[in-house]
Parts: sequence; C-alpha cells; structure tokens
Amino acid sequence: MESRGTKREAGKIEVAEPRNKLPRPAPSLPTDPALYSGPFPFYRRPSELGCFSLDAQRQYHGDARALRYYSPPPTNGQSPNFDLRDGYPDRYQPRDEEVQERLDHLLRWLLEHRGQLEGGPGWLAGAIVTWRGHLTKLLTTPYERQEGWQLAASRFRGTLYLSEVETPAARVQRLTRPPLLRELMYMGYKFEQYMCADKPGVSPDPSGEVNTNVAFCSVLRSRLGNHPLLFSGEVDCTDPQAPSTQPPTCYVELKTSKEMHSPGQWKSFYRHKLLKWWAQSFLPGVPNVVAGFRNPEGFVCSLKTFPTMEMFEYVRNDRDGWNPSVCMNFCAAFLSFAQNTAVQDDPRLVYLFSWEPGGPVTVSEHRDAPHAFLPPWYVEAVTQDLPSPPKTPSPKD
Ligand code: GDP
Repeated sequence: MESRGTKREAGKIEVAEPRNKLPRPAPSLPTDPALYSGPFPFYRRPSELGCFSLDAQRQYHGDARALRYYSPPPTNGQSPNFDLRDGYPDRYQPRDEEVQERLDHLLRWLLEHRGQLEGGPGWLAGAIVTWRGHLTKLLTTPYERQEGWQLAASRFRGTLYLSEVETPAARVQRLTRPPLLRELMYMGYKFEQYMCADKPGVSPDPSGEVNTNVAFCSVLRSRLGNHPLLFSGEVDCTDPQAPSTQPPTCYVELKTSKEMHSPGQWKSFYRHKLLKWWAQSFLPGVPNVVAGFRNPEGFVCSLKTFPTMEMFEYVRNDRDGWNPSVCMNFCAAFLSFAQNTAVQDDPRLVYLFSWEPGGPVTVSEHRDAPHAFLPPWYVEAVTQDLPSPPKTPSPKD
C-alpha cells in the first residue's frame, strides 16, 4: 500500500531526507468497480468442515439439530398460496438484536475443533476467520450505494479475525424500523416455514411459532487468491433429493421478493437483489436459491429456482449490471489490505475498517472496549495451547 512517492524516496533514504519526514498519507482502499475488473480470481471450492446449531433460546449445540429439510409443495399444476402474514405478530419470537454476539458462536466451534482442522499444521495461523455475511458485504461493496459498513479486525496467533461493527446509521435504522419493514422481515422467515420440514420426507408444518433465534450454521473452508478462509454461514435447509447429498451442494437458500410485472421491474431485480443473492450463496457454494414471489396481499403465488452459477447471465449484457470478478477482486484486495494493515498480533488491539458509499475504505486503531471482540475464554484457551508466543515475523521471514 505504499504510495509511488514513498517508493521513489525509499532509494535515497540515506542521501537526502529521512523517510520519516515524508508526508505519509493515511492508508485507504478505493472501491470503484472499474479498478477491480480483471480476470476472476482463484476461489477454492468451499468444503464443509463442520456445523453447529442455535436453539430457540439461542443456545449453542455442536450438531445439526436445527437443520431443516427442503419440502416444496407438490408440483401438480397448482400454484402455491402461502399467507406470509399468518401468525404475525402473535406467533413471532424475534431474536434480541441488542445482543451483540460478534464471532462468539463461530469461536466456540473453532475452539472445539482447532485440534482436528485439515490443511496441515499452521493452517489456521495463516487463515482469516469471519462470518459469511461479512464477506457478502465485501463482495457487494463496489456496487453498494446506500449502506456503509465497519469491520473490526484483530490478529491473534497469526490468524486474522474479522467481526462486523454496527454503524451508528445502521443502529438508528434498526431502532426506528418501520412496522411494515418488521412485518416484511417476518414474512421472509415465514416463507422458510412453508418450504421446510423438521425431518426429511415429511410436509412442512406452518402452524407453529417463527423463532429467529433458531439457526443452523455451516462452517466452511475456502481460499480467495492467497487468503485461506474459515467462515460460517446460516443455512436455510438441505434438499434430501439433491443430486449430491454432500454439503454444501445439498443446501438451498430461500428468499422472498415482490411479484414483478414489467420488464423494468425484472431488470432492477437482476441488478440489485440478484447481486446480493449471488454473493451470499456463491461464497459457501450453495448451488440454488429458491425465490417465493409475493403479491401485495403478502401471499406467495409463484416459486422460481435461481441456480447460483447462472445468476450472472441475467446481467452479463447489462452495462449497469454487476460483475462477479469485480466483487471477488475487490474482496481479495480488501483482505490483502487488512492483512498488511493489521500487523500487530494482539487480541486486545482492533483495526477498524470503515466504509461509506462514494468513498474509500479507511482504517483506525483501537484498544480494548468497546471494539475488542475476541472473548477472554477464547484468548485464554488458545494461549494455553501454545504458551510461548511465536516470534514477531521479520521482513526476512
Ligand atoms: P447472513 O449471510 O447475513 O445471513 O449472515 P451469516 O449467515 O453469516 O450469519 C452469521 C450469524 O449471524 C448467524 O448466527 C446468524 O444467525 C446471525 N445473523 C444473521 N443476520 C443477523 C442480523 O441481522 N442480526 C444479528 N444479530 N445476527 C444475525
């Protein structure tokens, strides 16, 4: 991230001015799509390392108990007629969004499996650990015009951990969320209830409560360019009839969207919504997104499957469309920027990366509360594994 000026000066450091007298611009990373339109970077086929579940009380279980089974209505010529508003608000138990869980559940999984990780000794020390949702935000950044983000980064025993921080604007939006938007969120979860069963081969039961504390999370390994990745994402269901029963290729993502009537509405859907759907499902290798289109009364009357690997075709010839290469190249550039910035190995130190639409990614440094996010139980357990800290890497290494 050296500027050209600094590079040129570095050669005559002993002759002329000392390097530290030169103005050093604060490091930042631009996000313009035009800067990232090279060839698609290497992305390792994601493999599932394990999974965990969160129950109705948001308690962690190191198993697949919360996994649900894809069970669409029979295709006998009839359209579905799912009332997505049924049960709202009396059969709705929303997760408490005031609780900031940060990476905690993923770290618990990692603590319990760090001894058996594939990839050889030291793989984790070279990896980036985060949620899939955080990577999704990075992928869509070059095209995002509305919402900024903040990502906190800490390096600990070599590994770079990335955890999102709610921006002040996002907090205000959450606390002032209009009632109609709250109901729309419920409707997305209700759709899952109409499409999934608790056991394979049985029909869904939409009579119960919608409890958004419940989650099934897949933990995946991949690599983007030279960045090994360990991330977890919430998975809606598995398809018992999928051609391969091997995760993540048996997983299905469920989405709802407004019914569309004009070519202009479809075009806008491909440009904006399909980008988010693609980014979220491409990262973990989820092959299909099943969309339920709802009418103005809140009933899903049609379903359509969008194969993740075909989504780009809808915008390939659109000058105002998105490009997967731009998304992935930007993400790789951000990960390099973060790796080169967050150099001090210290779980109490946080490098806070901030981005607002129209600007570059900037960074600031913080110590301890409120930004430090690696919990003491994690830091202490990992520290006990390897009591002597590794030596600070030198440029020769
Ligand atoms: P997504 O791709 O944005 O859905 O996020 P992930 O699949 O990476 O989810 C990571 C974890 O964050 C899971 O435990 C989810 O249940 C949780 N999660 C997802 N979205 C939200 C949210 O909007 N608020 C909170 N508090 N947690 C969320």
